[in-house]
Amino acid sequence: MSGIYIHIPFCRKACRYCDFYFSVSLQYRDEFVNRLVEEIRIKGALNPGVSLDTLYLGGGTPSVLTISHLEKILEAINRYYSFRDNPEWTMECNPDDLDYNTVKKLKQIGFNRLSIGIQSFQEKDLKIMRRSHDANQAEASVRLAAEAGFSNISIDLIYGIPEQTTREWKQNIERTLLLPISHISAYHLTFEPGTVFDHWRKRGRLTPVTEDESVEKYRILRKALLSAGFEHYELSNFAREGRVSEHNMLYWSGFPYLAFGPSAHSFDGEKRSWNISSLKAYMEGVAAGKNFSESEKLSIREQYHDYLITSLRTRWGCDPVFMEKQFGPEFSGHFEKEARSYIEIGSMYRSGGRVAIDPNHWLITDHILRALFMD
Ligand code: SF4
Repeated sequence: MSGIYIHIPFCRKACRYCDFYFSVSLQYRDEFVNRLVEEIRIKGALNPGVSLDTLYLGGGTPSVLTISHLEKILEAINRYYSFRDNPEWTMECNPDDLDYNTVKKLKQIGFNRLSIGIQSFQEKDLKIMRRSHDANQAEASVRLAAEAGFSNISIDLIYGIPEQTTREWKQNIERTLLLPISHISAYHLTFEPGTVFDHWRKRGRLTPVTEDESVEKYRILRKALLSAGFEHYELSNFAREGRVSEHNMLYWSGFPYLAFGPSAHSFDGEKRSWNISSLKAYMEGVAAGKNFSESEKLSIREQYHDYLITSLRTRWGCDPVFMEKQFGPEFSGHFEKEARSYIEIGSMYRSGGRVAIDPNHWLITDHILRALFMD
């Protein structure tokens, strides 16, 4: 399996918790799209005949682009790449960018999955996070996406927002479960260096939630979604009717992916490469035919660690036979030795030849990973 990720580096507002690469100045959208199309063409020539499974437009906020921008990008993608039958084409959207005609058009031009950034249905959360929409817009956007024909809709939620009560979190989940969605990504808020939230935390203006509160909210989430028929298939992701994110599964399974746009990361199975995190330098680099990316070849140890970090976040876990073949007996032997004690205490289990962390223990994934890593 393989896929394409495209990073659209524009947002209407800067959310206070976000450390992704984006610009709130939308004036360069036309020029960016022209350069992006150029990058797609250049890399397409290097990868002839590749048949892809997924396309994912993320960011930033892809929905700040116009339909003609998107058509231009998709035309280039279709010209230089081929896809399997019925590939998964996802676009991330913010609620305030969606109206019925826009969503209908997104369907017509080829997207079959929308990932809508809602984060919370509490106005006070949206305000403190500085989201660009309100709760009613969030709900309406999902409903009109379904009315326009999207049957594969995902929404993002955030928990662990300072001062969000357990009752408010439960209300968020209840409101979520009334929506026509098949997928939920629920992430715990993190205080990333350089963000406004992190600055506020350091100055005592915001207090992170306690570990006990985090665990409680995670358990509430998991219980409610499992009862509603969702499968908890990855630490932060839940799907109904088997509608897992195929694109994200590429990342979690160690499959290759190509990426375009500033700050976008590609992986070819052994080598990671990433475009420069500057819109200006990216556009100049593409226009001048200069290098605008860096890369590193992963050592076997790094490949082993990456494989564990990604695969053990999912309910399918990792494959020791694959590890022996791919990384050698030293690594698979170390894994077997260290995993044994976690299997004995029930934090990990074996199933169908694979070894996974029990979802009830996913909150200690980092702790388990540290033991499984090779020094
Ligand atoms: S809209 Fe998304 S990418 Fe943009 S600032 Fe907010 S969280 Fe970050």
